[in-house]
Amino acid sequence: KLSKKEEEEAIRRTNAFEKDDIEDLRKVSRQEYLKKREQKKLEEIRDDLEDEQYLFDGVKLTEAEYRELSYKKQIYEIVRKRSDEPEDANEYRMPDAYDDENGVNQEKRFSVAVQRYRDQSAGDKMNPFAEQEAWEDHQIGKATLKFGSKNKKQMSDDYQFVFEDQIEFIKASVMDGDKFDDDGEPSELVESRAKSALEKLQEDRKTLPIYTYRESLLDAIEKHQVLVIVGETGSGKTTQIPQYLHEAGYTKRGKIGCTQPRRVAAMSVAARVSQEMGVKLGHEVGYSIRFEDCTSEKTVLKYMTDGMLLREFLGEPDLASYSVVMVDEAHERTLSTDILFGLVKDIARFRPDLKLLISSATLDAEKFSDYFDSAPIFKIPGRRYPVEIHYTKAPEADYLDAAIVTSLQIHVTQPPGDILVFLTGQEEIETAEEIMKHRTRGLGTKIAELIICPIYANLPTELQSKIFEPTPEGARKVVLATNIAETSLTIDGIKYVIDPGFCKMKSYNPRTGMESLLITPISKASAMQRAGRSGRTGPGKCYRLYTAYNYYNDLDDNTVPEVQRTNLANVVLSLKSLGIHDLLHFDFMDPPPSEALLKALELLFALSALNKVGELTKVGRRMAEFPLDPMLSKMIVASDKYKCSDEIISIAAMLSIGNSIFYRPKDKQVHADNARLNFHMGNVGDHIALLKVRSMKRARDIRDQLEGLLERVEIELVSNMSDNETIKKAITSGFFPHSAKLQKNGSYRTVKHPQTVHIHPSSGLSQVLPRWVIYHELVLTTKEYMRQVTELKPEWLVEIAPHYYQLKD
Ligand code: ADP
Ligand code: MG
Repeated sequence: KLSKKEEEEAIRRTNAFEKDDIEDLRKVSRQEYLKKREQKKLEEIRDDLEDEQYLFDGVKLTEAEYRELSYKKQIYEIVRKRSDEPEDANEYRMPDAYDDENGVNQEKRFSVAVQRYRDQSAGDKMNPFAEQEAWEDHQIGKATLKFGSKNKKQMSDDYQFVFEDQIEFIKASVMDGDKFDDDGEPSELVESRAKSALEKLQEDRKTLPIYTYRESLLDAIEKHQVLVIVGETGSGKTTQIPQYLHEAGYTKRGKIGCTQPRRVAAMSVAARVSQEMGVKLGHEVGYSIRFEDCTSEKTVLKYMTDGMLLREFLGEPDLASYSVVMVDEAHERTLSTDILFGLVKDIARFRPDLKLLISSATLDAEKFSDYFDSAPIFKIPGRRYPVEIHYTKAPEADYLDAAIVTSLQIHVTQPPGDILVFLTGQEEIETAEEIMKHRTRGLGTKIAELIICPIYANLPTELQSKIFEPTPEGARKVVLATNIAETSLTIDGIKYVIDPGFCKMKSYNPRTGMESLLITPISKASAMQRAGRSGRTGPGKCYRLYTAYNYYNDLDDNTVPEVQRTNLANVVLSLKSLGIHDLLHFDFMDPPPSEALLKALELLFALSALNKVGELTKVGRRMAEFPLDPMLSKMIVASDKYKCSDEIISIAAMLSIGNSIFYRPKDKQVHADNARLNFHMGNVGDHIALLKVRSMKRARDIRDQLEGLLERVEIELVSNMSDNETIKKAITSGFFPHSAKLQKNGSYRTVKHPQTVHIHPSSGLSQVLPRWVIYHELVLTTKEYMRQVTELKPEWLVEIAPHYYQLKD
């Protein structure tokens, strides 16, 4: 036994021992004590060695394996501290749905890792976990003693969660970067003294890859009427080319229009360019998106969605006020972009002064060139660093959860650099944000600060700029983005990309004319673009939440152009009002299926927008004025007859903003929703409430514009609040093709093309189950659901659409 003095000496001599150890030592002999101290020292030396040589308890590991184990050890540390604070232990628990799931993957993940190390090491002695396991048993024992045995199961579950909640990746390949010599990068840090923000921005412009090619690009544009421009995302196509053209005097002859497939991109790029030019947004530089025009008389650089330029053709069929049209992000092949191709190609023939630029981020530019009569291709060599591609070992059952776990895993284990996560939509991004906040809050100051930045189409403008703000020293930014960050927006500083491999996509059944939004696997081309986002400012890493097998065997090479998978009624109506009648021979780059065209004509005929020979009717001409889907515009036009236009435009405005619908592929719904319920605690509710208020304001704006359009088509604004039946009849006038009848089992059957559907649980009618309903749209989640449902009298169908429905007698 140690004397009191010896004990004090021991405390003085070694800080490495904790009090518990000392207490244990009271019971052992001095000799044993010394032996133990020797051992401790050895361990310390070995620890140091481990850092150098990836030794883990004597076993030599590869760097990746070592990192994995160190990470686990780190987590152990956190858990260990946690186990002394039982009230916090719950923060590590997963939503119940997770526990319920007999997910093989979750179970496999850790046991595979453990087995591998066990196989490697000779027997228990060399097992790197032996010590940890003993310690774990000890801790559980302690916890049980301290807090009673009911905690035992829970504690071990917690450990399990921490262990299993990791994802194994296999480093598969390195995506080559272009050879890039560092001399090209100006070392301007030294000079950044007291420069004005504008000067700084002007210097930044010169560092972009495109800057070197400014003169030759302007030359090529001068020489050729149509030019295809290809350059890596971030090379400066969108922000610089319109400015170069402005500087070269093109704006003296007319506006420069630059189209974007996405609203957020149009707004954000216009904002950036106005900064670079030192002008107020909406003056020389402006943007135009549906229901929001931020341009003025002064505007010479106009960024807009492709859909808006399409609508401009209605008022100005030769685009006379433009000197240059740049169809940007052409590779996205949205429906509107594809239609624009046909239209601009056509007007270029009789407007030789109009310059046409088709710019794209991907290399299949030959197709664009071929389409535009062998237009020359201008390539802007990009800077690209190599990107390491990692795949998961096994498919992930829940990509949202996997994305969150991987982000945190990167945050804890990887060197500085921001993270970009690709998710499919607003709700998913909001869910991920909540869960991430919750989990990092749990970890407190044990990890560096993680700044979470969402970006999606409906994000309020003020919040959008947050993703571009530089990350403070010591912190890490994680950007949760939709496909918008794939090529439309460039975010500097991204070093890690997490790609779950999904995006939200429209799918359309031309046979039934039914359209649904679904979460769909991306294409290989998309996956490459996503990975490339991590290698812009230095070597990057891309973590794919699917296996290499999935990549090579399950993903299509390219995304199917939207024109081949969507309802064309809207486009057909626009083209008809442009005087283009022969749609079957319209110059499509990739023609849509002819059934889809016929279906669109059929629908427009049913809505009385076209007559029997396919000409636009008066109703059709009025409908075309509204930037809405034909069924909605028909509903508005019909409200004239039913004397309730006031109410109907309110309904149309509300339907137009409400696109924050949560679509999830089958079996994932329950899980994600449970996760949301679990995390919908605390102050989150208030924020969401604020968002709702925002949406109301936006609905109000849209309503005001619809009111303006009513005037244009000479429909009087009349309110008829007292008579719901006339309002319902006006709705039916637009949506009669979407009728459904109740079945005995509580489901519904669509009338025109029989299909089983259900009332969405969020609907006020989901418990009422009226015999007849009409619906606004179909959403495929676990079932095919009707959203926004209204009760209907079947007689109305015959009264309103006798050509479509007949009474069976
Ligand atoms: P490309 O169109 O070739 O993909 P861009 O012109 O969009 O390239 O981007 C060029 C550079 O401008 C990028 O490096 C990006 O950092 C910067 N940039 C673009 N938009 C913004 C913005 N809204 N805020 C801050 N920087 C931006
Ligand atoms: Mg761009």
